Amino acid sequence: MLCKANNICKLNMIENELLAIDHQHIWHPYATIYSDMPMYAVEKANGVMIQLKNGKQLIDGMSSWWAALHGYNHPQLNQVAQAQLAKMSHIMFGGFTHDAAGELTQRLLKILPKNPNYPALDKIFFADSGSVAVEVAMKMAVQYQHAKGEKTRHKFATIRSGYHGDTWHAMSVCDPVTGMHGLFANSLPLQYFLPQPKTAFNEIWDETDIQPLADLLSEKHSEIAGLILEPVVQGAGGMYFYSPTYLERARELCDQYGVVLIFDEIATGFGRTGKLFATEYTQILPDIICLGKALTGGYLTLSATITTEHIAQTICQGEARCFMHGPTFMANPLACAIASASIDLLLANDWQTKIQQIEQQLSRELAPAADFASVQQVRVLGAIGVIEMKQPVDLAKLQPKLVEKGIWVRPFGRLVYIMPPFIISSSQLSQLTSALLDTLREIYHESGH
Ligand SMILES: *Cc1c(COP(=O)(O)O)cnc(C)c1O
Repeated sequence: MLCKANNICKLNMIENELLAIDHQHIWHPYATIYSDMPMYAVEKANGVMIQLKNGKQLIDGMSSWWAALHGYNHPQLNQVAQAQLAKMSHIMFGGFTHDAAGELTQRLLKILPKNPNYPALDKIFFADSGSVAVEVAMKMAVQYQHAKGEKTRHKFATIRSGYHGDTWHAMSVCDPVTGMHGLFANSLPLQYFLPQPKTAFNEIWDETDIQPLADLLSEKHSEIAGLILEPVVQGAGGMYFYSPTYLERARELCDQYGVVLIFDEIATGFGRTGKLFATEYTQILPDIICLGKALTGGYLTLSATITTEHIAQTICQGEARCFMHGPTFMANPLACAIASASIDLLLANDWQTKIQQIEQQLSRELAPAADFASVQQVRVLGAIGVIEMKQPVDLAKLQPKLVEKGIWVRPFGRLVYIMPPFIISSSQLSQLTSALLDTLREIYHESGH
């Protein structure tokens, strides 16, 4: 790709040239730059199909990490993006506002979880990525406590196996083992980690599950600004589904001890779990909610941290007289415009029925894997299907097989999981699940059907 003065970038490299320059110079997520892991050059993507530069077509099982709800290259999203581009791609948010932010705010206010017994979530901070949304939430909690005169409260509590992003404070509340807190020990703030709730999503609530949190808050509440949780579904930290009752009990304890309750819905938001937000599996609301990933339907990076009038007001009456954060690309108009269009698309389609269908089909079609000797457990919630293996997978072996069979699935650790775009057809989903199970059968020499 050469950009000359009078020449437009063609964005059209020879495959080998691209792979070579990538291999020599470009980092990938959680990867060694000296990796000899397989790397695939993508030419384009359309609907549920990803086309590699070598012509191979893959059915997308990942939604580009929870994000691409409506698949790729969606005509309606493209159209809105082009209309916004023709107005402006970006403008600073200090001193300016714009239609794109206003329209997205109207939509979020309409769809955010509501509950007459709790203050509305209606003060929105638009940031640039999920990790930043988490940083913003944590700063809000600390500024709030500080403004209330609770100046010793600067720590956070969370549960093990969580994932909240890769920036410093977000990382400090990720699982300490998978987040390698040992490695970063001297630069990471030390937080309080509670056991992962034992009561799984469909199980009968075990009251002892909340005891560790009750004990921690009773003992250490004067140090703790906030409790941060991924409601119901723990994503990248373990793909685990736990009882919503845990969240309701946590709400009571946070109220009792003056702790800010933060729900990180960056992965779970926008229908993925079968509810528009996983919070809706509970009878409560958090004090702060973080959104990201699917917010723009997977088009651009954008996140939102939303809190209540009370918290916003307390922060703004505090020492700083303002909330201390303001990214360059705050409320990026292009991203906001696409986010509005993505929400419209979601609501215009009967997403609940669609997710139910995906859930039923995943349950049915992944079930045979539960009998594999190599498999620990199969679990499904909404449009998320997880095959937990007994041992960590060998990605170098597994990935090429999956691609060969025409599907894009990206396992990590012991987790082989799929979360396809909601627009996937039932025959495409069948191809995805059967290719996935066939691959596991081959790699692990599983017998049976
Ligand atoms: C992905 C994720 C994040 C981080 O979002 P980025 O956009 O990757 O920074 C935070 N929390 C949860 C629950 C996530 O799944």
